[in-house]
Amino acid sequence: MNFLMILPLTGLSLIFLALLFTPMEKVFPAKPGQRFFRPAWIMDLCYFLGQYFLWGGLVAYALGYFSYWLNGILPAGFRQSVAAQAWWLQAIEVILLSDFLIYWAHRLQHKVGFLWRFHKVHHSAEHLDWLAAHREHPLDTIYTVGIINLPAILLGFPLETIAGFIAFRGIWAIYIHSNVRLPIGPLRMLIGAPELHHWHHDLDRDAGNYANISPLMDILFGTYTCPEHEPEKFGIKETFPKNYAGQMIHPLLPDAVADKIFKPKATQAGTENQKPPE
Ligand SMILES: [Zn+2]
Ligand SMILES: [Zn+2]
Repeated sequence: MNFLMILPLTGLSLIFLALLFTPMEKVFPAKPGQRFFRPAWIMDLCYFLGQYFLWGGLVAYALGYFSYWLNGILPAGFRQSVAAQAWWLQAIEVILLSDFLIYWAHRLQHKVGFLWRFHKVHHSAEHLDWLAAHREHPLDTIYTVGIINLPAILLGFPLETIAGFIAFRGIWAIYIHSNVRLPIGPLRMLIGAPELHHWHHDLDRDAGNYANISPLMDILFGTYTCPEHEPEKFGIKETFPKNYAGQMIHPLLPDAVADKIFKPKATQAGTENQKPPE
């Protein structure tokens, strides 16, 4: 896809998401009074634009390569018997399987230092809304998208169906980051609600709520948490660059090198973009 095609697509997506989520954030705000133009909204807009203009193609290429590489690993007979089932049964099976995989893969992102160094980019957001949902390192996205779609790829689902799953999960991911708290009561035990994911973004690195579409896995494995109020603060406790380029580069460097490049500058006066976290 060339630049002239990406440009209108990006503009339309931005308008569509703003029209979909802004009214919900106004009517059912999780943190009342939070404005669209809150701190770091420009950086999150950079992430949004980066996904469309820079990294979307890379993620799609990685997924295509991944599916080519895994094609035919499962026996054809098994794949045919899965494909012979009703479409809704296949859909439920694939969603449950991918939710199970992403639940554990996400717990690993918080547990294993190498994965956390990329995932903490996402958790560095101190304000959550539909725009902040886009804050993600592209390598973290490749890891997540690859694992979420692993069952569908292994079962030989057509790429168009997989693209449909990706679009649905993409919108869902934006919804659970939005500054929304819907009065759905006990239904939030079944359907992932924004407040659950907001608690996942608590300052505590092991805050729980690792599941995606449904909190079922968190309930099953003892990591479900849903206090009646919003967390006091979102973000991470670690020192981390507060600009787009810094956040892209920092996870790629060994700690000693990254600390040398980013920390000394962070203490110099007048380097507005690289000031240490408050
Ligand atoms: Zn996380
Ligand atoms: Zn998140």
